[in-house]
Amino acid sequence: MASSEQIIMACCADIAGQVRGKGFPEIDLPLRLQRGVGWTPTNVQITCFDVIADSPFGALGDLALVPDPTATWVIHDQIGDPVEHVMLGDIRTLAGEPWECCTRSILKSALQRLQDVAQLTTTVAFEHEFQVSGGTAGDSGSSYSLAGARSGAAMGRRIFQLMARNGLRPDTFMKEFGADQFEVTMKPADGLAAADRAVILRELVRVAARERDQRASFTPIRDPAGVGNGVHVHVSLNDADGQPVTHDPDSATGLSDVAASFAAGITTFLPGILALLAPSAISYLRLTPHRWSAAFNNLGLRDREASVRICPVTSLDPLAIARQFNLEVRACDAAASPYLQLAAIIHAGTEGIARNLPAPTVTESDLSTMDTWELTEMGITRLPTSLEAALEAFAAEDCIREWFGQTFRDVYLAHKRGELAVLEGLTPEEMCARYLAVY
Ligand code: GLU
Ligand code: MG
Repeated sequence: MASSEQIIMACCADIAGQVRGKGFPEIDLPLRLQRGVGWTPTNVQITCFDVIADSPFGALGDLALVPDPTATWVIHDQIGDPVEHVMLGDIRTLAGEPWECCTRSILKSALQRLQDVAQLTTTVAFEHEFQVSGGTAGDSGSSYSLAGARSGAAMGRRIFQLMARNGLRPDTFMKEFGADQFEVTMKPADGLAAADRAVILRELVRVAARERDQRASFTPIRDPAGVGNGVHVHVSLNDADGQPVTHDPDSATGLSDVAASFAAGITTFLPGILALLAPSAISYLRLTPHRWSAAFNNLGLRDREASVRICPVTSLDPLAIARQFNLEVRACDAAASPYLQLAAIIHAGTEGIARNLPAPTVTESDLSTMDTWELTEMGITRLPTSLEAALEAFAAEDCIREWFGQTFRDVYLAHKRGELAVLEGLTPEEMCARYLAVY
């Protein structure tokens, strides 16, 4: 029975990669599904450090954050405490139109463009790495070990339980390589659902850790000398009948022509979209060679240092292979909104299809040992090495205006520049500490 005591939080996952929203009594749900909750345009400029960046909206304007009944979650917190109800939603203008800075609407329009241009849909899975602190964090020297997994087993079981209760199908849980680092993956879903689930998964992991008096952090990198926490986004393409079209057993790379063009779009536009995939100042400490992240705009065959990796398949059955075959975009982290991350990937890939780009050179070696001219021959460049440089590439990329609109482009640049201003004069270690406190 709907009650007036139970709170439902209507939320968005914004530019800062934060989940923000407002609560309303459960009894008002029918009304709120129509009208939403009031939202303020300048909220989009609240940076991850709670400083408001330059806003073109100032104190003016009103919007509505409208919860989507297909994105409803129940997050159990401490046993005995009231459960937390969350609904993700879209920010609309008062006329009911998608707001140009609504990250979820931006993803919807990217998915629509892929439909319009190529009559394709996506199947997507987000892979998350995180580090825990407090309690018995992961034992050191325990990478991928049973002992390491055991140190996080209670939390892992709880994460799986919370995922299952919310319809997020768990895939794997493991003790990752880094100190106190774990990884959780989930089974794929269609593009929008996968991004909704990525938003919620991060919250579920935080709750599961907090229940054990631990803190889970998805910060891109905790210590400049350590490994990073990556978000790896697996994408495959389906035709209008829902049949997988990423794989072609007769092509050299295993990629179909359309998937090769999609991959080429991502690698071509990667420098310009990187600021959306890896949006913090410290993201660029992670995106350096030999950290198994991504430092070049390359397509790699089963290479864990490639920005875009052609993943292995574990099946021998042709139909199962066709379904499993996917591209993994590894240059992402959890300082980003999953909606923006996926929207950028889809737009870049769609542009590759629209331009009929040929397959990129597939790399299978350590690019950091190659000369620039060798890389240039292969059409490969080093990715921007700082957020400032990534923002310059973002600002210089004409397609960004076309894909995301002028308003979002300008707002995003101002937001990120406001975030950088907070960090002025800090050492890498100090910056890592600032981001650790947030993500
Ligand atoms: N921690 C690595 C990253 O920052 C990824 C390691 C792996 O799972 O391959 O992306
Ligand atoms: Mg991993």
